Order: sequence, then structure tokens, then C-alpha cells
Amino acid sequence: MAFNITTINVRSIKTEIRAQSVLSFLERFNSDVFLLQECGLPFLSSYRKWEDKWQHGPSIWSGSNFNKNDGVAILIKTPHVVVRGSTVVDREPVCPVRGLAIGEPTTVWRNVAHPALLNRHRDLSWMVAHEILPVRAVMHSRGMARTSACPRPGCGQEESVRHLLWECRAARDLWKEVGPLISPCLPAGEDLTPQLVLYGVGRRPIPPKAFTKLWPTLTCLKAALWSSRNLLVAKQVNTTPRQWPW
Ligand SMILES: [Zn+2]
Repeated sequence: MAFNITTINVRSIKTEIRAQSVLSFLERFNSDVFLLQECGLPFLSSYRKWEDKWQHGPSIWSGSNFNKNDGVAILIKTPHVVVRGSTVVDREPVCPVRGLAIGEPTTVWRNVAHPALLNRHRDLSWMVAHEILPVRAVMHSRGMARTSACPRPGCGQEESVRHLLWECRAARDLWKEVGPLISPCLPAGEDLTPQLVLYGVGRRPIPPKAFTKLWPTLTCLKAALWSSRNLLVAKQVNTTPRQWPW
């Protein structure tokens, strides 16, 4: 059986007026299934309010408190698609992060999607938090690299995410150089620790205003470390912190 499927970015369907106008617009399409992106809905345990608005068949809704643009929906407008049930799962990924105390992972996952970060820096932060940045230790464990050793000349230690961004000589040189520039911006009692650099977790909660300046800076520096490492691996270009591709 063939179905017509329509996909549309609705750019928020949160308010009553938006929901009504988008849904009545869709009613006019000769389509069996509608996939709605960027519904702009929060995470809720029930989406009954929106389900009731779509009266042509079942609908499945989702949302998130993580990113205000999140939320997709599937609207069915044909009796040939039967929904046997749907489950609402809290998408906020609060899974443990190595080396952090209980409660801190929530901060980590919030920082990964921090609105002050560029999208590519959010991706980098996400891979760092999950420890899946394709460094050699990660690739080697999946059978996708010959060695797990750090590619920096004279290093040879296992290249984990933490090694790349904190422990390797190249990383230590960078943090040593930028430390005196960053330290005056840190709240009293804070200094550059691996938890702060990797995940944005300070010894004590950092005021949002200060963090909004600090976190993109730290993330840019990590991105520079990663870029310079990739230049070295791909093109055998050896760079120093001052030459790094900022
Ligand atoms: Zn190294």
C-alpha cells in the first residue's frame, strides 16, 4: 500500500492560534501522513491538548525542555495507518558522565546545548560528553584504527578524549598559555580543571552571565585542539598553539 507523506517545518505550534492555523492549513493537503518538525513544544507527559486538535486520525507528539525548537509530531489522516500506542519518554539525557558527581550530568547536558555555542561547537561538546569524539582510542576500540596511540610526535599515550583535550602535552601547553587570560574571568575559587574545561562543571555553580562568556571560549579552544590534531593526522602539519586554526 502506498501512502502520501508530507513533511513540514512548522516553526512552533505551541500557542493555540499557531496550532489551529497550522492544523487547518494541513487539513487541505491530500496526504495520509504528516511529519511536523520544530513544533516548539516542551516536554510533557501528555500531549492530549494537541492530540484533540487533530481530528482526522491519531497523532503522536513530542517535545523537549532541552532546545526550544525541538519537538516533532506525526499526524495520521488515513484509516490504513493504525497506531497501536505511543510512549512519551523524557528526552533530557541525564546519563552518567565519567568522573562527575551525582547531579552534575544535568549541568553537563545543559551545557552541551548551550545557546551561546555555535552549532558545530554543540556537536563537539556533545561528542566530548559522550566520549565518542573519533580520537584513536575510540576508533581503535571499534576496530577502525590501527592504534590507540596519540598522534602527537613523542607522545604515544592512549589518545582518549580527555587525553586530547587535557592531558596531552599539546593541550597542557595551550591551557598553560591561555590560563592567565581566562582566570581573571572565573568566579573566585575557580580555576581551570578538567571538569570545567571538558564539561563546563565548576567547583560551585557558575553565574549564568559569567558562564555565557566562559563556555564558548573554552569550547573554541577545544575546537582548536581538535582541528590542530586533525591537521596533524590528515596532512602531517604540526602546529603550535599560536598557529592553530582558530
Ligand atoms: Zn598525546
